[in-house]
Amino acid sequence: MDSTATQCQFCWRVRDDGARWSDLSVFMQKYNLQPHEISLSEGYCPQCNEFYCLLTQPSLYSSSEMSVPRVSETGQTQNT
Ligand SMILES: [Zn+2]
Repeated sequence: MDSTATQCQFCWRVRDDGARWSDLSVFMQKYNLQPHEISLSEGYCPQCNEFYCLLTQPSLYSSSEMSVPRVSETGQTQNT
């Protein structure tokens, strides 16, 4: 058993068998590992990676800009 695992820096799950991500406690139980037997490398699971991309890509916000109330230069919301 290779005890090197990639741990998501957002939700702290670890990669298990390639595509599956499990809680660290579940992962340790499954492989009967002690915390000191696992070396964790930093990474991001697919879900969090997707979420992170949503947060960091301003271009995705501009597409939904039309649904946001327009604010005039004086800072007041225009209702007319
Ligand atoms: Zn994650």
